[in-house]
Amino acid sequence: MQIYNYINGEFILPTSGKMLDDINPATGQIIAQIPDSNNDDVAKATMAAKRALPNWRALSKDERINWLNKIAQALEERSEDIAKTESMDTGKPIGLARRVDAARSISNFRFFAQHAKQQIETEFTMADATNYVIRKPVGVVGLITPWNLPLYLLSWKVAPALVMGNTIVAKPSEMTPLTANLLAQTLDEIKFPKGVVNIVHGLGPRAGQAILEHPDITAISFTGGTETGKIVARTAGPMFKKLSLELGGKNATIILDDADLDVAAKGAAKAAFTNSGQVCLCGSRVLIDAKIYDVFVPKFIAAVAAMKVGNPDDESTDIGSVISQQHMEKVLSYIELAKQEGGRIAYGGQRIIPEQSSLCHGSFISPTIIENLAINSRCATEEIFGPVVTLHRFDSDIQAIEMTNSTQYGLAGSIWTTNTSRGKEFAKQVDSGILWVNTWLHRDLRTPFGGVKNSGVGREGGDWSLNFFSELSNICVKDD
Ligand code: NDP
Repeated sequence: MQIYNYINGEFILPTSGKMLDDINPATGQIIAQIPDSNNDDVAKATMAAKRALPNWRALSKDERINWLNKIAQALEERSEDIAKTESMDTGKPIGLARRVDAARSISNFRFFAQHAKQQIETEFTMADATNYVIRKPVGVVGLITPWNLPLYLLSWKVAPALVMGNTIVAKPSEMTPLTANLLAQTLDEIKFPKGVVNIVHGLGPRAGQAILEHPDITAISFTGGTETGKIVARTAGPMFKKLSLELGGKNATIILDDADLDVAAKGAAKAAFTNSGQVCLCGSRVLIDAKIYDVFVPKFIAAVAAMKVGNPDDESTDIGSVISQQHMEKVLSYIELAKQEGGRIAYGGQRIIPEQSSLCHGSFISPTIIENLAINSRCATEEIFGPVVTLHRFDSDIQAIEMTNSTQYGLAGSIWTTNTSRGKEFAKQVDSGILWVNTWLHRDLRTPFGGVKNSGVGREGGDWSLNFFSELSNICVKDD
């Protein structure tokens, strides 16, 4: 398979003619060739987006909402294709790709179509004048997204950007470009206006950096790692671009002494190992009240042992491969580091080679549980972004809060207790943007999503996304 950049409604090769390999990490096989785009390609895409802007922003909001609904409908018709493609590109289980990736990519468009309808225009009346607060598009916006939830996270930005009247230059991760290409094909099929959405494939430091630096791109919405986020801020900040940064996490799952331990064990396992631990919201540190530690841990291990690791095509698989061989090696090196730091592997800890010969070069790692590490050890503070959790004891809620807040990150966390008021009070003291009590990854798309500290700047979701992708103007009209 060969995929192309999607610029001004055309599928075109990169200017340099250079291509990159796209690999299925479950098989190690090359599945596609993708453009290795550079400044020139980004310049073309930006020019197309700039030319398309006046007509797109001139449409009424209702007309743009209709387009979002058309995109959702067209994506829904190919939802199985989205799920299969995402599973092949990321190595994630097909069931997860159907339930999460395909479903959410479609519902992102439906949600923002609906939510934008309900937006209220604000007016402030004075004795002799009226102030009309109106929203204008920001202009040409740059969207840069990671590999863990490829179309899910791209559509989470594309939908609100479009509905607010912006035009787009997007760069998906070069490791998972295929569903962004499906989106381009879908737009082409429904005859979406040319140049409004442009997708440039390629490497972050080349194609991504060109988006950050282009003077005609006035806002950057970035989701990815904290170190890359620093580059984004360093480059785009001095150009006064509007910036949204959704970055890494090292989230805690906190098991209080009154938790229902069976429910908590299953919840903590899901929070730790969904998508092989490659969700920014995954709970990679499990903090357990010392009074229940010895009862909880065997239940947690049993819940993890019940998870089936292996063939992503198998409907019953819970955990597929990690994103690449390089990432597998990084995760395994953290497991080795944990041993050097005094950790004890309570479960897993090694690469898995599935029985099927087609998967023998795949990047599979057993879900791994590590005990005995200090809360400030590297493995308990750095984002591993793989199927690895560390377990820690605490003696009081106050100590648990200190431990929860002890990393550079502040994205998410979950608290498990039979006393929901206690859980809520605990949550209020955690320095994170998203907290769950007795659940995890339970999302109402109207709520704010984002982190504090090194987990990011800004919020996405509902009004927060619509605000980011619009500029407010106040028009004060003096009465006649
Ligand atoms: P990266 O930061 O490596 O990459 C994210 C995107 O940025 C990719 O498209 C990448 O391209 C691109 N990029 C890399 N360098 C540059 C550059 N110099 N200029 C512009 N763009 C660049 O993250 P990963 O893809 O490895 O994703 C995992 C990370 O994302 C984890 O830290 C995770 O926590 C975080 N994440 C955060 C979420 C949140 O909502 N807070 C949600 C999901 C993930 P390329 O792939 O070609 O390098």
